[in-house]
Amino acid sequence: MAATDFDLFVIGGGSGGVRAARIAAGYGAKVALAEHDRFGGTCVIRGCVPKKLLVYASRFGDEFEDARGFGWTSGPATFDWGKLIANKDREIHRLEGIYEGNLKAKSVETFTMRARLDGPGTVKLADGRRITARIILIATGGAPSRYGDIPGADHIVTSNEIFELPSLPKRIAVCGGGYIAVEFASIFAGLGVETTLIHRRDKVLRGFDEDLRDGLMEALKARGIMLLMNESLVGVAQDVGCFRLALHSGAAIETDLVLSAIGREPATHDLGLETAGVRTGAKGEIIVDSLSQTTAPGIYAVGDVTDRVNLTPVAIREGHAFADTVFGKKTTQVDHSLVPTAVFTTPELATVGLSEEAARELGHELDIYKSRFRPLRNTVSGRNERMLMKLVVDRATERVLGCHVLGPDAAEIVQMAGVALTLGARKADFDATVALHPSAAEELVTMREKWAPA
Ligand code: FAD
Ligand code: NDP
Repeated sequence: MAATDFDLFVIGGGSGGVRAARIAAGYGAKVALAEHDRFGGTCVIRGCVPKKLLVYASRFGDEFEDARGFGWTSGPATFDWGKLIANKDREIHRLEGIYEGNLKAKSVETFTMRARLDGPGTVKLADGRRITARIILIATGGAPSRYGDIPGADHIVTSNEIFELPSLPKRIAVCGGGYIAVEFASIFAGLGVETTLIHRRDKVLRGFDEDLRDGLMEALKARGIMLLMNESLVGVAQDVGCFRLALHSGAAIETDLVLSAIGREPATHDLGLETAGVRTGAKGEIIVDSLSQTTAPGIYAVGDVTDRVNLTPVAIREGHAFADTVFGKKTTQVDHSLVPTAVFTTPELATVGLSEEAARELGHELDIYKSRFRPLRNTVSGRNERMLMKLVVDRATERVLGCHVLGPDAAEIVQMAGVALTLGARKADFDATVALHPSAAEELVTMREKWAPA
């Protein structure tokens, strides 16, 4: 067989692609990677990391307010959006350099341009060069879905543009009810923007535990976010200095910015998949088996482009498992069944394992343990928000199937609860764990009464 230019060619320099390239190179493979935008991909450039920085920014208002109950007095707080964005950009630029540097350190050859398949084992670069590789990995991620068919759709921004707004709007309308919609509604509300959330269902965050959904909606409302449920956007018209939104119910609202967060689509357009026999599913996602192998020999895919669990740590794990399997002689499958996840609203929520509803649907007889309480800090700050903790327990085996938290530090708490669930912890193991006092997380190991519906 004729030699190829590379052992591995990776298309996409985001979370999954960079991890796969580095690990494969570590096993001695000759690796190349093409990235047509910025190294680091969605998570680093326009996703998790800049989003979390904005989340931090949006929570200082609470800190200033709560501080009063603890005896602090300070002058009027002011906020500078331009400064936040400039500081955020500096940090993102630094991380981008680290991602690119890590590839160079492993002697991965990088091409800063678009790449597509050009038949089996061949990649065509945007400058016309054709490169051959024994293995090709597609890690092109996804892109925001857009309202294509409503009047004025071009006035609507997505999460791609939101990180670069030249100034903070006075009012924002956010469309959607998933992760991005509720996170950004929360961020903007926290920064003092008059915020409206428009969602086509009666509740946000479909698929999450109902108690978390209800608790979050109550908290968002109490924080002043206008929730327009069972409603959808049907048109956007530019008016003098603002936009007028036409809604499905016939209502109209005025706003200064419209953000759509109605899901993401796998980035498979114009990738030349058909030239190599790579099959896609209904959403355009690349179909893969449990080892991330596509329908074409020698071509693999990881991360959001495969639309399995669209989270950064999952893309990274899939990239790593691919490299272990194909270049490290260690066949490794990724278990997608127990993935902790958080929604960085304020209050934030996090979850690992099954929701109560999903567990019942799977036929489990359940014991539910629930606690809703005012965190200690709020007793003195005067803040009225309550925290929610919930364990979903299989009655027959006593295994904890799900752990759900709404309130401050939910993500930090659930990351650790994830260890217990991964080890197959039973309720008795939670009970046997000594509480750490005073903390909010201690509720998870001190809930003794089964919850009984009133
Ligand atoms: P990506 O990171 O998207 O990388 C794909 C790369 O491929 C991109 O850099 C792209 O430019 C490049 N590319 C595409 N096509 C080509 C081509 N033809 N040639 C060359 N290069 C190409 N996940 C979490 O776990 N926690 C969070 O808090 C979180 N927050 C998020 C917030 C937002 C606003 C968004 C949008 C996503 C968030 N996510 C979060 C999801 C997370 O960002 C993704 O799951 C993750 O980035 C997927 O990694 P990936 O490697 O599959 O794709
Ligand atoms: P999600 O899939 O989370 O949510 C999409 C939302 O848009 C849903 O509420 C959906 O409603 C609604 N929707 C879908 N199509 C339409 C339409 N045509 N008109 C109106 N509403 C519509 O997507 P996001 O864009 O919020 O985020 C994409 C993914 O990125 C997430 O699923 C997650 O995997 C990842 N992410 C993770 C984060 C984290 O870990 N904290 C943060 C941000 C993103 P319905 O429920 O009715 O389908």
